[in-house]
Amino acid sequence: MLLTLPGIYVGCAILLAAVLGLAMGSFLGRVAWRLMRNEPVLAGRSHCDTCGHVLFANDLVPIVSWTALRGRCRYCHARLSARYPASEFACAALYVSIVICYGLTLEALQMVGFASVLMVLSLTDLDESYIPNQTIVAAIVIRVLFIVFAWLALVVHVPVQAVFADPAAHGIVLMDAQALGFDDKPFWDPTADASIVVLDMLRTSLLGAVIIGVAVVVLALAMDKFLGRSSIGGGDMKLFAVAGFYFGARQCLFLIVIACVLGILFALATQNRAGFSDDIYRIDQAEGKSSVSNCADEASQGPVEDEWPFLEEERVPASKGVSRVFPFGPSIALACWITMMVGGPVTQWYLELL
Ligand SMILES: [Zn+2]
Repeated sequence: MLLTLPGIYVGCAILLAAVLGLAMGSFLGRVAWRLMRNEPVLAGRSHCDTCGHVLFANDLVPIVSWTALRGRCRYCHARLSARYPASEFACAALYVSIVICYGLTLEALQMVGFASVLMVLSLTDLDESYIPNQTIVAAIVIRVLFIVFAWLALVVHVPVQAVFADPAAHGIVLMDAQALGFDDKPFWDPTADASIVVLDMLRTSLLGAVIIGVAVVVLALAMDKFLGRSSIGGGDMKLFAVAGFYFGARQCLFLIVIACVLGILFALATQNRAGFSDDIYRIDQAEGKSSVSNCADEASQGPVEDEWPFLEEERVPASKGVSRVFPFGPSIALACWITMMVGGPVTQWYLELL
């Protein structure tokens, strides 16, 4: 989509997406951190997790600050988690991939918003094995805003190519204006009323959320019965329903399969890691809520995966009274991103096989 534009525009768009992604990655990492500690998400200055010193602009330059300070706080020299540069880089990569796939459209903006929410809930799920309701609400609001603004844009005759990356996917027929004797820009079939397009999109979204939501609840109940323990968490079910709201039921079948495969791979990969034992977890009640964190040595945190404890119920001492479930959210989030990228063509392909 984007790549059909002249090279200079492509370069600028990608650079802009990368810079914005780095800055947003930094911000979203902090949003996740604050959500986990019940701090106001937007109010208050950024501060060091350890010494509480307020961080200034030169401490907050994405990736650069962390690298320049060799991963330590400028003020107390405590080691700073490698998740900060990692999430900044991941966010930049997400934004660039979305701009390449969706071009400079309103739909790209929607996906950037959704990807940002996925980023936050992945961080909280990896850390605390829960998906905050605020992220679910934010995702729904972003989708609803997109539908409303898409309708407004079509009503005031904004070119349909600036709204949707693939107008045909929304049942919009592009007419060849040149063949009709007008200018050389294609325009969309004026008989396709804006409200019909948008109502259709809204119906697909709502049906998708309901069908996928119900399907996942049924699947979870069956798995709970089979495994004899809680399998898919409430937050995961809500996230699946939100994915249905974004992608519709058809694409979500693909999404569920991908999420399950990734979840199994993630579980296997983390299960095989050596050195996991109960004593590397502590129950941190200092903030008045239960959380488990890797505290073998706070000052010697290794690469990012090392400090995101994958948490299985049986690995946490039962005596501590904390029930942990495997964090499935990041796998669902990654499946959402894969669906964003290739969901349309893949769904087309398997529907043709039927
Ligand atoms: Zn500090």
